[in-house]
Amino acid sequence: MNRELENGIVTSYPALYRSLEPRYSGACLFECDDGWYQIIDELSRKLETQARKSDLQVVCVKEKLGSLRVYLRGPATGRVQDWVATAEGLSRNTCERCTQAAMLRRHKDGGGIRTLCPACAAAMDYVIE
Ligand SMILES: [Zn+2]
Repeated sequence: MNRELENGIVTSYPALYRSLEPRYSGACLFECDDGWYQIIDELSRKLETQARKSDLQVVCVKEKLGSLRVYLRGPATGRVQDWVATAEGLSRNTCERCTQAAMLRRHKDGGGIRTLCPACAAAMDYVIE
């Protein structure tokens, strides 16, 4: 995700992201494209209230198998788990690049799957069925 968007989220929810670091030098904090910004922002707003009154923290945010994954450390109540599941579910219908309605698509070379709208899939050589 672009640095400006990342910084906006981390600054807005300081308790939740207090220990988040890039996994390796030069990597993004949020290892997904910008189309999921709003999903992450909304999830973070809910989780921040919990992070302020407990040890709850986000330790990793990334795209895996075409879906958003958010990994937590600390006490994840049932409600927290529901919020994360809702965000991950939304990501499966939201283009990772541009926020349009999307579905899981395979790359033409066979490597990798991502959730993309038809226009982004065409631009990135993913199969449109
Ligand atoms: Zn798109």
